[in-house]
Amino acid sequence: MDLLSIKDKVCIVTGANTGIGQGIAIGFVKAGAKVLGVGRSSMDDTIAKVKGMDGEFVPFMADLGTTEKIEDIIQTAKSTFGKIDVLVNNAGIIRRDDAIDFTEKDWDDVMNINTKTLFFLSQAVARVYIEQGTGGKIINIASMLSYQGGIRVPAYTTSKSGVLGLTRALANEWAKHKINVNAIAPGYIVTNNTAALVSDKARYESILERIPAGRWGQPEDLAGSAIFLASDASNYVHGFTLAVDGGWLAR
Ligand code: NAP
Repeated sequence: MDLLSIKDKVCIVTGANTGIGQGIAIGFVKAGAKVLGVGRSSMDDTIAKVKGMDGEFVPFMADLGTTEKIEDIIQTAKSTFGKIDVLVNNAGIIRRDDAIDFTEKDWDDVMNINTKTLFFLSQAVARVYIEQGTGGKIINIASMLSYQGGIRVPAYTTSKSGVLGLTRALANEWAKHKINVNAIAPGYIVTNNTAALVSDKARYESILERIPAGRWGQPEDLAGSAIFLASDASNYVHGFTLAVDGGWLAR
C-alpha cells in the first residue's frame, strides 16, 4: 500500500470548493496530503468537510478565468508547504447553446479557463518540479467530450478534446524530468456542471439508461483514480486519460 501513499504530498487542487474538485481534495486530505485549494468561491464547505482528517487543507482565492494569479498560486504553495508534488487542474466551466448561436464571449470564457489557464498553470508547476529536481504529477480533468462530440456545447467539447491532446503533448516533453502528466475523464457526475441535465428528467433518465454501472457518478468516485495518479503507483504512466465513467465509453 506504500506505493499508493500520498501522505505529506503537497497538492494544488483547483476548484476545490465544490463538485469533483472538492471530492478529490477531500480524498487527498483523508489520505494525509497537504492541499492548497484554489478557487474563486469560499472554501468553507470543504474546510468543514476535511475537519479532523489526517492531512491539511489551505484555501487560496484566485479567479482562474485569467492567468494573472498563477505566480501567486505557486508562491503561496511554496511558502505554505515548502514544495509542490501534485497539481490537479480541475476548475472548468461549460456553456450551453446551439452552435449556430454560440457567442464569442462564451467561446473565450470556456477556452480561457478549461484550456489556457490549465496550460500555463501546468507550465508554472512543471518549472517548479524541474527546479526542485523531484519531478511531480499533473492531473488534468478531461471529459467524455474529450472522446465524443456532445450536443450544444461546442466550446466545451473543443476545450476538453484539447485537454486530452495537451495531456499527451506535455507528457512527451516532461516525462524525462520525472513529471507524470495524465488526465481523468469523468463520466456523468452529479455536480453544478450537470445541474441542467439532472433537472431535465428525460435527459437524466436517457443518460442513466446508457451507464453500465446503473447510476450517475458522485464527486467522491473520482478520488481513487486521482490518488493513483498522484502516487508512486503511477510513476510509469504518462500521457494517458483514464475514464472514470461507470462504463459509459464501453457501450
Ligand atoms: P462544478 O461543480 O461546476 O465545479 C467547477 C469548479 O470550477 C468550481 O469549483 C468552480 O468554482 C471552478 N471555477 C469555474 N470557473 C472558475 C474561475 N473563473 N476561477 C476559479 N475557479 C473556477 O462542476 P464539476 O463537475 O465539479 O467540474 C469540475 C471539472 O470536472 C470541470 O473541469 C468539468 O468540466 C469536469 N467534468 C465534469 C463532469 C460532470 O459530469 N460533472 C464530467 C466531465 C468533466 P465556482 O464554484 O466558484 O464556480
